[in-house]
Amino acid sequence: MSRTVAADYLVVGAGASGMAFTDALIDHADVRVALVDRRHAAGGHWLDAYPFVRLHQASAFYGVASTLLGGGRLRQRGPETGLQERATVSEICAYYDRILADRMLASGRVEFFPGCEYVGDRTFVSRLSGQAYDVPEGCRVVDARYLAPDIPLHTPAPFEVGDARVIPVNDLPRLTEAPSQYVVAGAGKTATDACIWLLSLGVDPDAICWVRPRDPWMFNRAVVQPDAAAFLGMAADVMGSAADATDPDDFFLRLEEAGVMLRVDRSVLPTMAKAPTLATWELDELRTIENVVRMGHIRRADRGRITLDDGTVEIADDAVVVHCAGSGLQYPPLVPIWQPGTITLQPIRAGFPCFAAALTGYVEATRDDDAEKNRLCPPTPYANTLPDWARMNLLGTRATLSFGGEPDIKAWTDTIELSPGRVAAAPPSAALDEVVARLTSNLAPGLVGLARLAAAP
Ligand SMILES: Cc1cc2nc3c(=O)[nH]c(=O)nc-3n(C[C@H](O)[C@H](O)[C@H](O)COP(=O)(O)OP(=O)(O)OC[C@H]3O[C@@H](n4cnc5c(N)ncnc54)[C@H](O)[C@@H]3O)c2cc1C
Repeated sequence: MSRTVAADYLVVGAGASGMAFTDALIDHADVRVALVDRRHAAGGHWLDAYPFVRLHQASAFYGVASTLLGGGRLRQRGPETGLQERATVSEICAYYDRILADRMLASGRVEFFPGCEYVGDRTFVSRLSGQAYDVPEGCRVVDARYLAPDIPLHTPAPFEVGDARVIPVNDLPRLTEAPSQYVVAGAGKTATDACIWLLSLGVDPDAICWVRPRDPWMFNRAVVQPDAAAFLGMAADVMGSAADATDPDDFFLRLEEAGVMLRVDRSVLPTMAKAPTLATWELDELRTIENVVRMGHIRRADRGRITLDDGTVEIADDAVVVHCAGSGLQYPPLVPIWQPGTITLQPIRAGFPCFAAALTGYVEATRDDDAEKNRLCPPTPYANTLPDWARMNLLGTRATLSFGGEPDIKAWTDTIELSPGRVAAAPPSAALDEVVARLTSNLAPGLVGLARLAAAP
């Protein structure tokens, strides 16, 4: 028999999005939340992440609004000295455990249902006991898994596996004998992490064959920092470059010139712009790998040979092919965040999914009219190609102008670390005044430029 759970909100997904939404909602409204996840704990994809992953961005931009992830510290040692700390996967999981226990469950207003599958129609079922649960008619369902990323552990390698040894990136630390060659399949953040990790453990760069179907543009981590002058300087450069660029390639080349974007190989024009952040020391490491295969996607992996879209490449007989080719970010259609009976969490300003989920929780708690909430918080997509990236920034900037025009929202976002580029929280300085002035003057022509670049083929 189904048990009815007394709740005003049913949040499906206890990953970063569901947690940030719930945290902000219960902070500003006296409501009850049923939080459901098929996984055993809060933390979402991080619970199954490869063990050497860290956030690619500063910890301060990740987590929930009420509680800073990490200590907001600058790194004191190593090649990222002076940049903000970035949490490891175990720090992220421990953080979400603590938020769930100490803030949510302790409030008495959140009930957590781990190991439960949402099956639609306001119903979820325990995957272990089979117990079914439902929520009352008036309970709003919050879809906090609409943009849940695909990760290699849960997606088979997107090519035929013959008799080659193919492992998901998660299994790399479990190897017990060194092969003579690693074939890294993928060009995104996971593949760069795998390459850098192998190199950091002393693997010879010549023992790595890196299959990059597309070359990526990546954000220079130094300019995506919780430092208003750095962050707004980057925004001013994006707007100025968009205003002047003749096409998407020219846009990114201008951003590279300005120190905003990085590419591994300066002789190749990247076509991918998911744009995770990368540090320049990582770039130096990646450039030591010279065996780069650009022959499209792998179609089949056999002992001694991989077959790609554009031909065949010999690999060592004992090569380990490392599957880093999960699609990661998702690109479902944009939908209004608020619809009758449901809330579908999506980014609002460009990127920053935790900020968007927290903002959605705050707006839900403080306003009644769904049409007005949708007007203030239109969704933005993630980017894949260069024109996508322009569109993401166009929609994200418009959204920021929209919600930022509400005095209470502005006052709230000024107090939370998740919100990037907070002038109000920064000490006054001539450098900050300069970037604010530059951003202000670049904004209108930049928006026109972004619209033009977003429409480019
Ligand atoms: C390796 C990696 C590193 C990243 N680093 C960063 C970063 O540094 N900064 C950044 O801003 N973004 C980063 N991202 C981007 C990513 O989008 C964010 O981590 C984002 O927060 C994902 O959170 P989510 O809650 O949307 O998805 P998830 O973490 O996947 O959470 C969704 C949850 O929904 C549950 N679920 C799904 N369907 C059901 C169902 N039917 N019933 C019950 N439960 C269900 C899943 O079990 C899952 O736990 C990274 C992504 C990856 C893969």
